[in-house]
Amino acid sequence: MASERQINVGGVLIGGGAPVAVQTMTKTETANLDATMRQIRTVAEAGADLVRVAVPRVQDAEALKTIVRDSPIPVIADIHFNHTLALKALDAGAHCIRLNPGNIGGPDKVAEVAARANELGTPMRIGVNSGSLPKHLHALERENPVEALVTAAVEFVELMERLDFENFKVSIKSTNVPNTIASNRLLSERIPYPLHLGITEAGTKWSGSLKSAVGLGTLLADGIGDTIRISLSTFHAEEEVKVGWEILKALQLRERGPVLIACPTCGRLQFDMDTVVGQIEKRLEAYTDPIEVAVLGCAVNGIGEASHADFGIAGAKDMGVVYSKGRPLRKVPTEELVDVLFQEIDKYYAAGKTIVVDEAEAAEGAALLAEIEAANAHDLTPERLAAMEAEQARAEAESPTAGRRFTRA
Ligand code: SF4
Repeated sequence: MASERQINVGGVLIGGGAPVAVQTMTKTETANLDATMRQIRTVAEAGADLVRVAVPRVQDAEALKTIVRDSPIPVIADIHFNHTLALKALDAGAHCIRLNPGNIGGPDKVAEVAARANELGTPMRIGVNSGSLPKHLHALERENPVEALVTAAVEFVELMERLDFENFKVSIKSTNVPNTIASNRLLSERIPYPLHLGITEAGTKWSGSLKSAVGLGTLLADGIGDTIRISLSTFHAEEEVKVGWEILKALQLRERGPVLIACPTCGRLQFDMDTVVGQIEKRLEAYTDPIEVAVLGCAVNGIGEASHADFGIAGAKDMGVVYSKGRPLRKVPTEELVDVLFQEIDKYYAAGKTIVVDEAEAAEGAALLAEIEAANAHDLTPERLAAMEAEQARAEAESPTAGRRFTRA
């Protein structure tokens, strides 16, 4: 269930139906202003809506004043164990502070921080981690870890409410994907506050991205979660942001930048598509519109299933085709496909988002496609098999007694 409440973190709305915000955390020593600001600018360029910085020392809280002033996006101060640092971070102007009410030194200290945050109108993120549940929940944790996590979070929520502080979001984090899913589902039914989603210590770029996509994607697809952070073992925080965006784009929850689609390749591939896809993906980072760009490993099927793409290439051994919206634009030597693709994209923008067609060049492209398709007319490509299966399913739906015409191996 989507959260009912909404908070405002430095101008970014979280919860209450606002777009799911992408956040990350800097990996630098916070007091190293040059390094921290460089990383904040990099993650902001990559699309981070919010950034969190660790504040384990007084000098980090001091540095916050400059960071908050110069950061292009709102800054969240991450505080553990020391309520004095939380007070300093609030006074330094942090747009939000992240606090685990269970490790800050008792309810009196939490009350002091909540009172200061209330005065300043600064929101908080309060949260529990599977590794640090309060002692009285340890027995429950062994028996039912999901219930223990949710109970801890609800107890913190009730504590904040008793302190007349309701300007917060809540997180339950676990390294365990099923427990993260189950506990956030349960929590979303029990409290109206916005939820921060993440998988703790998810792992490397590869495994962490997959775990996060499965865990967070499942919750987001159910409408649960208002802000996400992908935790990856990399010093490049912008990678976390990119993965976060890919999850939101895949679920069509938000749009940002181009969408790249590419065939999986097969034995018909006749050029180095691995390299070409990588080059295109990198060059597309310079564009902000959500245009769809397709890369096909061959033109055996013509433009086929990727004909809806705004722009695309279909490669071949020597000559390929650059196309737009199902229509060939040019016949191009294979080694120039990437450059010409971007020339055509740039022409489109220069012409005020209009596809520019040179009829003679388009005719050459169409002739090449027709030639390749005719030469391979009987190949059972993955796309043709899929089309045949779709046709068979359609025929069977119309006439349930129709026999199967072919079986896919
Ligand atoms: S047949 Fe399909 S999957 Fe194989 S290379 Fe061509 S477009 Fe890619």
